[in-house]
Parts: sequence; structure tokens; C-alpha cells
Amino acid sequence: MEQIKGIKMAPINEYYMSGHRTCQGCEAALAMRLIAKAIGPRSVVLGSTGCMYVANTSYYTTPWAIPWMHTQLGSAGSAALGTTAGFKSLMRKGKLKDEPINVVAICGDGGGADMGLSAISATLTYAQYNSLIFMYDNESYANTGIQASGTTPWGANTRFSPPGTCHHIMQTRLKKNMAGMMAAGHPECKYVATVCPSFAVDMINKIRKALTIGGPTFIHCLAPCPKGWGFSPSLSHEIGILAVETGIWPLYEVEHGKVQFYGKSKGIAEGGRRKPVQEYLEKQDRFAHFIAEDVSFVQTKVDEMWQKWLIPGVIPFKEA
Ligand code: SF4
Ligand code: MG
Repeated sequence: MEQIKGIKMAPINEYYMSGHRTCQGCEAALAMRLIAKAIGPRSVVLGSTGCMYVANTSYYTTPWAIPWMHTQLGSAGSAALGTTAGFKSLMRKGKLKDEPINVVAICGDGGGADMGLSAISATLTYAQYNSLIFMYDNESYANTGIQASGTTPWGANTRFSPPGTCHHIMQTRLKKNMAGMMAAGHPECKYVATVCPSFAVDMINKIRKALTIGGPTFIHCLAPCPKGWGFSPSLSHEIGILAVETGIWPLYEVEHGKVQFYGKSKGIAEGGRRKPVQEYLEKQDRFAHFIAEDVSFVQTKVDEMWQKWLIPGVIPFKEA
């Protein structure tokens, strides 16, 4: 690459660089950087509306040093399928060199688990098109000011679910289990995984595996969000580790229908100790209103997940 005067060249393996406006300590931004590292230059990234669109590409700036395109909020699935189909067609006509191009469509939880669910589900049924749909989950509509989404955890304070005496408003439904749903309901999808940027090597390995295994694949990423969750940006890494160590966020993959746990989650699945959920909850302002009863309710739900479910929250042991 030719050196441009006045521009410091980035190390060759960095394709998500400076120039974004995400909050300090934003783990979703770290996820983008790890994706870019994992996929390299022969790649196209499709970003649906959300923090990682708006904060990343305002006013003609962008941190992406590889091709990136914006798509609508609920369109990660459609964009992934359309792009891979377009490449296939161009290659068949000889207009593009016939070689693998990584297609990664990115969405947030609002865009993926809520609005774009049907398009993602449809894309995961077309086995002949290779792409990865990557959902970074900051557990709210963070870009528009922290409103509750389908993946907001039980009891969390959001703008749409403030705590207090109005218990009919408090968020009292359980988090939607996207990875489990995608794995259990799409026989044409060969690979589904969960990741967290606090475990960077695990995440990079899974992204590469998803893209080499073939067909449409899906990764669900827990992305701690200092602004929405109410913790110091200096704790972002630790919060991700605690999510895994308490068992709230299991790191696993489902490959050809077979479940495998990784890292600390593997230890837990084999009978290892989990930290109490209190250690994760107490560090975040969104749970500051919890009384002991609320903490033990969350603990019970996490215990149940590890005791009863083969794919966490979706396929019970007895049916496997
Ligand atoms: Fe990142 Fe949360 Fe800020 Fe969005 S609101 S840029 S997810 S820290
Ligand atoms: Mg979100």
C-alpha cells in the first residue's frame, strides 16, 4: 500500500480504525474491531442501523478500512442474502474473480432480535449462500436512548421500563434467546455461536469458523454498553468476563446440531463453579433497584438454564 502524505498507515491487520464516535468503553466497537481482524481485507461488511452504524459513519467519516455498506434497521438478513447472491451472479458471469469473499452482515439486538428477525430467519434457510450474520447485543435500543428491546434482561432499567412503584412498567419478561432460537429452528444453518469481546481469541476463532463452514451462519455477541447499563467504561472488559463466569452468558457453538461449550463455560458445563449473579448485577446501575428477592429470581433462572437445558434455554436435556 502506498503511504499517503500526512496519514499514518494502520498496521496491516487492523481494518477497523480510529474515526468512530462510540462511547468510551463501548464493547460493541471492540467487537467490530475483532470482526475486522478476523475477516481481513477480502471482505464486505453490511451494517444495519444501530449504534454501530450511526456512531461509526456520521458525516462521511468511517473507521472501516474494508468495504462497508449501510442497510436498513431490520435488513441484516436481506442484505447478507442479496449481497452473496449478487457476488455469485457476478462470478458466474465472469465479471468478478471466482474466489471466496467474506460477507458479514451486522445488526444490533433491536435490528436483529426484534425488527429483522424474519429476514435473518429467511436467510438462514438458504444453504447455498455463504454469509455470517453477526448480532451485537447491548440489550436495548441504545442508539435511540436505551429503550427496552426483546433481549433486555429481566428487571433492567431502561427508558421504557423504569423501576419504582410502577411494577406494571418494570421489565419483567425474560431475555429473548436468539442464538438458541436460530440454532434450534434452522436445519440448513450449519453454525451458530455465542461470543463476547472480553474473550477475543474465542470470538475471532468462531467468526472464522462461521465463515469457512459454508452456508448462512449466525453469531450472537453480548456487548456490554457502559452508557445503557450504567457502569464505568473502565469496567467493560470485567463485565463481559463476569457475564460468562456467573453463567448468565454461556459461550457455546452449535455446529451441525451438536453443542459445544468453550472456555470458562466449558468448565461450568462440566460441573465447575459459577460465580453468584449478584457479582454481575451489582456493578450495573440498571439493576440498582433490585432487592434480594429480584437477585435470587435471576439466580434461579440461571441455575435452571444450566440444569435443564441442552442448548441453553431452548432444547431441554430430556428431549435431546
Ligand atoms: Fe456503545 Fe452503548 Fe455507546 Fe452504543 S450506547 S456506542 S453500544 S456504549
Ligand atoms: Mg441494541
